[in-house]
Amino acid sequence: MATTGNRESNIDKLLARGFASHLSPEELIRSGDPNQRVVVVTCMDTRINPYRILNLAEGEVHLLRNAGGVITNDIIRSILISQRLLNTQEVLVVQHTKCGMATFEGEQFKDEIELETHQRPNFDMCTFKNVYDNVEASLRSLRDNPFLTRTTHIRGYVYDVDEDRLTEVVVDP
Ligand SMILES: [Zn+2]
Repeated sequence: MATTGNRESNIDKLLARGFASHLSPEELIRSGDPNQRVVVVTCMDTRINPYRILNLAEGEVHLLRNAGGVITNDIIRSILISQRLLNTQEVLVVQHTKCGMATFEGEQFKDEIELETHQRPNFDMCTFKNVYDNVEASLRSLRDNPFLTRTTHIRGYVYDVDEDRLTEVVVDP
């Protein structure tokens, strides 16, 4: 089991740096509603800084991250809340080259976990082979989701981590 106790952790080291420099009253973002009305779904990979690569400012978008930047039930949950309670309308998916999710096989990974814990994860690991195909599948699953009726635009990109470049993936209607 993970410790929550007193041994020094990397979280302690981060805390020691001090969190969040304070904003001036003029800089404070007054509303929680993203002012560009966009949800961005992307990978947790450290090579992706969405604020830099998408040229975003604080307060502009809802940023949802997971391993792969894939469309899971929890991503749908967050988009639904974002759209219905916080007035977003558009969804941008950004996945990337050299993603860790393309380097292992989901069922085999679950086998290893089951062997160690005697329990099998009951969720899909959402691994994939080709990131361009996976963005396309992600866009289709958003487009076809019956709950996302407030969506006006869905766009998808692949971020090339070597070239520092975004390429759009277009889905046929
Ligand atoms: Zn990734």
